[in-house]
Amino acid sequence: MQQSQFPILRTKVYDRPLIYLDNAATTQKPQSVIDVLTSYYTSLNSNIHRGTHYLATAATERFEEVRRKVCSFINAADRTEVVFTRGTTESINLVASSFGERFIGEGDEVIVSAMEHHSDMVPWQMVCERKGAKIKYIPFSDEGVLDLDIYKTLFSEKTRIVAVNHVSNTLGTVNPVAEIIKIAHSHDVPVLIDGAQSVAHIPVDVQALDCDFYCFSGHKMYAPMGVGVMYGKRRWLDEMPPYQGGGEMIKDVTLEKTTYNELPFKFEAGTPSVGDVLGLGAAIDFMLTEGVENIGRHEMELHDYAVERMRNIEGMRFIGTAPQKAAVISFLIGNAHPYDVGTLLDKLGVAVRTGHHCTQPIMDRYGIPGTVRASFAVYNTRDDVDAFVNALNRIVPMLS
Ligand code: PLP
Repeated sequence: MQQSQFPILRTKVYDRPLIYLDNAATTQKPQSVIDVLTSYYTSLNSNIHRGTHYLATAATERFEEVRRKVCSFINAADRTEVVFTRGTTESINLVASSFGERFIGEGDEVIVSAMEHHSDMVPWQMVCERKGAKIKYIPFSDEGVLDLDIYKTLFSEKTRIVAVNHVSNTLGTVNPVAEIIKIAHSHDVPVLIDGAQSVAHIPVDVQALDCDFYCFSGHKMYAPMGVGVMYGKRRWLDEMPPYQGGGEMIKDVTLEKTTYNELPFKFEAGTPSVGDVLGLGAAIDFMLTEGVENIGRHEMELHDYAVERMRNIEGMRFIGTAPQKAAVISFLIGNAHPYDVGTLLDKLGVAVRTGHHCTQPIMDRYGIPGTVRASFAVYNTRDDVDAFVNALNRIVPMLS
């Protein structure tokens, strides 16, 4: 992989080369994605689906071509099961709200893991509060492994849906989602997978997984911000009411009544972010050229190398040490506040994330205020790891 494909990596921070290890928050964009955005706004910009003129038709064709590309990328059975959203957060809110409206009632139950990002916890809390339903949480061990024995005991005839992430953005755990889905299906309960931290690192086949919903964001997989995907099985989408009302999602509107458009448009009210969707298409092309499996393998090599070197640092404590992990390293050093570690690293040119990473219940579970998190992407190198660990070694004396 040519680092030169990512122009931002040439940036200097405080006169030092940028070492970007905040990829779980958002990845940088290759030139091919940036070029698609420029060319869209230079020569193709038009509102889609409802124009007869040349630009509208051409933009619509390109937009729908990306839908087919996403469909094949995650191996959905049909392109009508691919709904464009603004990102994972909107995708999960869409499902929680619409599925909840149709299928969750008073006294019903929803199962959510205790290691979810707030985006896959708060929408369920909101719908449960609205409907008088209850949430049951799947606990996890000190290492960050979900307790499947307890999970199995959470089901009742009132369970309506299970929501769990494929990869934890804080602990890095790769959850056994195939098994989690199988168990839920044995109770006739559908499963939503939050794939925000997996699609860029693990090949995803929604039919092989047999998940009912799979949600992800473009910006964490080399695409622009402002676009995401909600995959849903047709059998659910057909029965779910629209999430938002407006243009595009209607078939017919009279002063008295509205009938809704067919899938997937029923869930795509208003003007979508067309340029960003085209950018998502370019990002998928980039990932397919690199090979998603190769990307994941490369990142894990860096992860393992980094962990091995970090172990020698006095006071190092890793948060999240599951046997199945993605390339996310959360850690604390002695009693140092994560924010101080992050700020000092920044001054040495190293970008990491600090805080609760939108997973406050995980922090409560460990009794910590937050962590420092380093996360890897395709363009990171062993030199980046060396620069990061050397920077850690430099700052440790300052912390005590
Ligand atoms: N779920 C997980 C596991 C995440 O890591 C994130 C973002 O960090 C989200 C959901 C929310 O993604 P977005 O902010 O792109 O909607």
